[in-house]
Amino acid sequence: MSEKQRIVIVGGVAGGASAAARLRRLSEDAEIILFERGDYISFANCGLPYHIGGVIPERKRLLVQTPQSFKNRFNVDVRVHSEVTSIDRVLKEVTVTDRKTDRVYTERYDSLILSPGAEPVKPPIPGLDNDNVLTLRNMADMDAIKKIVDCNALSHAVVVGGGYIGLEMAEALRERNIDVTLVELADQVFNVIDPEMAVAVQQQLQLHGIKLYLKTSVDSVEQEGGVLHVQLSTGETIQAGLMVMAIGVKPETTLAKKAGLEIGERGGISVNERMQTTDPAIYAVGDAVEVNDFVGGFKSLVPLAGPANRQGRIAADHIFDRASVYRDTQGTGICKVFDIAVGMTGLSEKMLGRMGIPYEKIYIHPASHAGYYPGAAQISLKLLFDPESGKILGAQATGAGGVDKRIDILAVAIRAGLTVHDLKDLELCYAPPFGSAKDPVNYAGFVASNVINGDVSVCHVEDVVGANGDIIILDVRTSAEVMGGTIAGAVNIPLDDLRGRLGELDKNKEILVYCQVGLRGYLACRILTQNGYQCRNLTGGYKTYKATLAAQSPSGPDLVPTMEASSREITSDSGEVDERSKTINTESQATLVKTIDACGLQCPGPVMEINNEMANLQPGESLTVVADDPGFAADIPAWCQSTGHKLTHLTPQAGGKYAATIVKRPPAACPALAESSQAVKQKTMVVFSGDFDKLMASFIIANGAAAMGSKVTMFFTFWGLNALRKSNPPSMKKTFIERMFGLMMPRGADKLTMSQMNMGGMGLAMIKG
Ligand code: FAD
Repeated sequence: MSEKQRIVIVGGVAGGASAAARLRRLSEDAEIILFERGDYISFANCGLPYHIGGVIPERKRLLVQTPQSFKNRFNVDVRVHSEVTSIDRVLKEVTVTDRKTDRVYTERYDSLILSPGAEPVKPPIPGLDNDNVLTLRNMADMDAIKKIVDCNALSHAVVVGGGYIGLEMAEALRERNIDVTLVELADQVFNVIDPEMAVAVQQQLQLHGIKLYLKTSVDSVEQEGGVLHVQLSTGETIQAGLMVMAIGVKPETTLAKKAGLEIGERGGISVNERMQTTDPAIYAVGDAVEVNDFVGGFKSLVPLAGPANRQGRIAADHIFDRASVYRDTQGTGICKVFDIAVGMTGLSEKMLGRMGIPYEKIYIHPASHAGYYPGAAQISLKLLFDPESGKILGAQATGAGGVDKRIDILAVAIRAGLTVHDLKDLELCYAPPFGSAKDPVNYAGFVASNVINGDVSVCHVEDVVGANGDIIILDVRTSAEVMGGTIAGAVNIPLDDLRGRLGELDKNKEILVYCQVGLRGYLACRILTQNGYQCRNLTGGYKTYKATLAAQSPSGPDLVPTMEASSREITSDSGEVDERSKTINTESQATLVKTIDACGLQCPGPVMEINNEMANLQPGESLTVVADDPGFAADIPAWCQSTGHKLTHLTPQAGGKYAATIVKRPPAACPALAESSQAVKQKTMVVFSGDFDKLMASFIIANGAAAMGSKVTMFFTFWGLNALRKSNPPSMKKTFIERMFGLMMPRGADKLTMSQMNMGGMGLAMIKG
C-alpha cells in the first residue's frame, strides 16, 4: 500500500490517539484526521475519579494532549466536537457533524480506524433521567459530578455498581467527606475476581465508613425538594444529593452496526488479529471490540486502557504493512480501594468453572517485603493452575503493598505459558524494602508445585465445612490465635507440641490441618504424613476460611461487626481530627496505659502482641495498637469478641495504618471468656482411689490438661491419700486406732497395687515398666 494515505480515526482518546501517534511515527507523508465528538482528546479517563476526590487537584493534569499540542508534535488534523455519524464503505467516506456549528460534511479515507470506546450501561430504572444521577466517562461527566460535590451541600451520595469505576468513585466521594452508600446487584464487589478474594475489598469499604449493599438493586429514583429518594430492592429508601451509576459499560457499536460491520457474540465489533473488521479497510480497537481470551480462548469484552493502546498501535502498524498482531487479552487489571490494591490476571475460579476448564487452586498470605523492614504488609494471593501440568491459569491478589508487582509477574508468566514449577525458579529482585529472598511469587510456586508433586495434599474450605465425624479437623495455631476465632469442632494442638502429642490423633481418620495462613499447616502435614497419618492442609488457612465464609454469608459479609455506632471525633496520627474515624463505644474512663507499634507485623503478629500486653493490664485499663496490616482490622474485632475485651476504637490512619484501642475487661464481663479461658482452664481432680493404675490415669489426665494451658489442682482424699504417704515418715504421736490404720494402709505409691489383674505383683511390675 502507498505511504501517501489518508487515514481517518474516530475517537481521540486511548485507542484513537495511540493509533494517530503511531501512524505518524511510521509515515511522515500520511494525512491523518482524528475526529472526536467531545471537547478534549487524549485525556486521562483513568484519572477522572482522582480529580473528583481531590488526589489530583489540577484539572489540566488530566489533559495529556490538546488538539494543538497533538498537531504540533504529530502533525495530526484533530477535529474536536466533531461526531462521525455514518460510514459509506463503498465511497470510503465518513459523514461528520460539527457539534458547534451543526455543519455536516464528508471526509474520504483510505483506511478508517474506529476507537469510539464504550458507553455506560443505563438500565430502564424510573428516575434515572435526573440531573443529579450521573455516569462517569469523560471530562464533561467529571465536571458535572465535581460541581455537585464542590458545592459543599452534598452530605450523602449513592454509588450504584461495585466495579472499577464504582469503587473508585466511592473512594473519591468518601475522600471528600461525603457519606457513601454503595449498591451492588451481585453478591460481591469487583466481580472479575472470586468472592472470597473480594471480601478484603468489601472490608476496606466498610472500614472507611461506606455502607455496602450486596445482592441489592436500585428500583427507582424520585426527587423531592432537591433530594434524591433512592428506592432499593430491600425496601429501604436512601436519601442522597447525588447518585453515580457505574454498573458497567457496553461497546459503542452504533456506527459499526450502521455500516454493516459484523458484531460478535458478546456485542463488540468483530476484528481479526490485525484489528481489521469484516471490512479490511476499517479497523476497530479499544473498548468497542471483542477480543479472544488469552487463557480460555473464548470471546470476551475487556474495557481496559492497556489493550486499547496496544490495539491502536497494532492497527497503525498493519496499515503500514508491519507484521504486528494482537495476541488476545488476559484481563490484567488493578484497582485501588482506600488502603489496599486488588489485582488480577487470567481467569478467575468462577470463569474456569463456567468454562469447564480443570483447575487446582492455592492461597498464600505472605508479606509484601521482608517482615523486619518497616512497612511490610500482608498480600493475599490466589493462584489457579492446571492440576496436571501446573500451567498457570489465573491469579488474584489483595494487599496494602506489592500487589501490582506480583500480579504483573504472574501476568507475564501466563503470557509466557509458564507453569507453577517455573515460578520457583524465577530470579526476582530482592532487598528488604522491596521483597523477600523467597518472593511471594516464588513462594506461590513452591506451594503449588508441592501440591502437584504430592508433597502435600491440600483441602479447601468446602472440604472442611462438609467434614463429618470420620475426619479430624486439626488446628495447629497457638491458643492466643484460637481465641481470635476457630473452626467449630477443631482439635487444637499447636504445631510445636504436635510431635509430642501425636498419640492423641486417630490414625484411622483423615486429618484436615489448618493454621492461620497455611505455612504451619504444611509443616504439620509433613510431620503427620511421615508418621503414617493421612492428612491434607487447608490452603490459605483460617484467613481464607474466614473470608470464604464471609463471602457465603446470606446476609453478606459483615467484616467489621463491632462497628455499631459512628461518630466522627477521633484524632488521627497527626493530631488532626480524622473525619473518617469510627467510634465504636467510648468507655472513656479507661486509662490508656500503653501504645504498641505493631507496624511491620502481619497477622497474627499484632494480635499476639496485644495478647501478651493484655496480661500486664488491670481491668479498666486500655492499650492502643497501631498496625499496618489490613488483616489486623478484620482480626481484632473477632479477637475482642472472643476474649471479652472491649474494642473501643478501630480507626483507619494516614499511611494505610489502623489504630485499635482495647479496654481490658475482667473475665466475668465475658461469660464465654470466663468459661473458656478461666473456669475450663482451672481444673481440679479429686483422687480418691488407692489403686496404682487409677492413680497413674489421673496423673496422665492432669498432665494433658496442663499441656493444654490449664492450671490443674489434684486433691487427694480417702484411699488416694495413700499415694502421698512417705516411706520414712517423721515420728508422730498417734492413737491406737490411727496406728492400726497406718499399719493396714499402703505406705506411698510404691506400695499400691492394681485394681485388676494384679497377678501377684506381675501386673504392677509390667505397668511400672
Ligand atoms: P475511549 O478512551 O473512551 O475513547 C473513545 C472516544 O471516542 C470518546 O472520547 C468518545 O467521545 C469518542 N467517540 C465515540 N463515538 C464517536 C463518534 N461517532 N465520533 C467521534 N467521536 C466519537 N482502564 C484501565 O486499564 N485502568 C484504569 O484505571 C481505568 N480507569 C478508568 C476510569 C474511568 C472513570 C473510566 C471512564 C475508564 C477507565 N478505564 C481504565 C478504561 C479505559 O479508560 C478505557 O478502556 C479506554 O479509554 C478505552 O479506550 P478507547 O479508545 O476504546 O475509548
